[in-house]
Amino acid sequence: MKVLVIGGGCREHALCWSLRQDPEVKNVYAAPGNAGTATLAENLPIAADDVDALTRWAQELRPDLTVVGPEAPLCAGIADAFGRHGLPVFGPPQRAARLEGSKVWTKELAQRYGVPTAEARAFDDPREAISFSRRFPFPQVIKADGLASGKGVFIAADFPQAQAAIASLMEQRIYGEAGRRILIEAFLEGVELSAFALFDTKQYLFLGVAHDYKRVDDGDRGPNTGGMGAFLPSPFVSPALLQQIDASILARLHAACVAERLDYRGVLYAGLMVTSGGPLLLEINVRFGDPEAQVLLPSLGTPLSELARAVCRDELGKLRLLRHRRSVVGVVIAAPGYPQRPRQDDPITLSEKKPSVSEAEGVLFHGATKLTQGVLRTAGGRVFTAVGWGGRIADARKRAYEQVNAVSFPGMHFRKDIASFLAGRPVP
Ligand code: ATP
Repeated sequence: MKVLVIGGGCREHALCWSLRQDPEVKNVYAAPGNAGTATLAENLPIAADDVDALTRWAQELRPDLTVVGPEAPLCAGIADAFGRHGLPVFGPPQRAARLEGSKVWTKELAQRYGVPTAEARAFDDPREAISFSRRFPFPQVIKADGLASGKGVFIAADFPQAQAAIASLMEQRIYGEAGRRILIEAFLEGVELSAFALFDTKQYLFLGVAHDYKRVDDGDRGPNTGGMGAFLPSPFVSPALLQQIDASILARLHAACVAERLDYRGVLYAGLMVTSGGPLLLEINVRFGDPEAQVLLPSLGTPLSELARAVCRDELGKLRLLRHRRSVVGVVIAAPGYPQRPRQDDPITLSEKKPSVSEAEGVLFHGATKLTQGVLRTAGGRVFTAVGWGGRIADARKRAYEQVNAVSFPGMHFRKDIASFLAGRPVP
């Protein structure tokens, strides 16, 4: 079996790693991949969002399966383009990728199908937005409709802050067309959670939940990032709450996808806020999270190839999902200057002596790494995710940080509180 993985971060290294657990997977290709995927796959010099070039390559090589990591190629219609050539893709078509690409559309869909979510109003006229904002309780959340790499969300403590956010999105257009429309949303308090489910056009399968850490510094301080760490299982989520997430959020989202004929085949990642009134939907992503994939995939005993094939054939109903009874912790190692201006091209040293973590207890996933003339170097912001697993969260955490200690490059930084504190509360 030949599999193409699209993307080049730690998530895609984790995808390749999971695919390689299946002896039936003979060839893996990664476009563009990184120095880590190069050890498991053949890297192709094609950008993840170059749908035309990827389609040309795939028409010739005919992969049996394509797994799409990031959202950009999905929003650009890669599943549709491959589908036209009879090539199976794990990832939804363009019209379903709007679930991530348009917050206004998704909010309206959630409201129509009874998915619990924060109260919000959409605007395409800045004057109307300002007038509504003045009357709406503070703090309030101002969101660009379109993709803005996680930067299009502003939490406004008062009216002047809200005014400034509305002006920057709608008038100055700091994120271009993404800010043509906005949402003004009620601020929710609680614990954030990422829930993952496989969707095909008939069934869905709840994979699990993970916590991630968005801020760059310990204690949830500093600017937002793509994610600085993740862990599972959640000690804050009871079986009853899991059941509630399944029934009130995932089941209704799946029903919405079926009723709207979105032909959703892939993974759906629901960003939730668990409030005192129960879980509410914050956002939908149409792909695995990064860094959540790096902890979710090692928690599953079924390799990704089997999951993805079942999804592509609409056979989720027949799949028997195996789970490891383990805790998994992932710590992101970032380049100096991340998230604002990550420095690149620093040489990386990986500890020569065998790390104390064996392959059965952890793995170091590469993200922004490259190999130039035999030297491993940084190539962007999030350079590695060091992952450890074990019976208890404390064991997994210890192994993840042991993996961190095996890495060294100038200015590297990482959070030291992953899986020890969450939203100011100690992780038991
Ligand atoms: P990302 O790409 O980082 O996942 P995004 O741009 O798609 O983010 P959201 O997930 O909707 O946007 O919001 C980003 C973050 O802002 C959330 O993870 C959450 O911390 C915060 N946030 C969003 N909406 C609310 C809300 N209604 N109340 C409180 N916090 C919120």
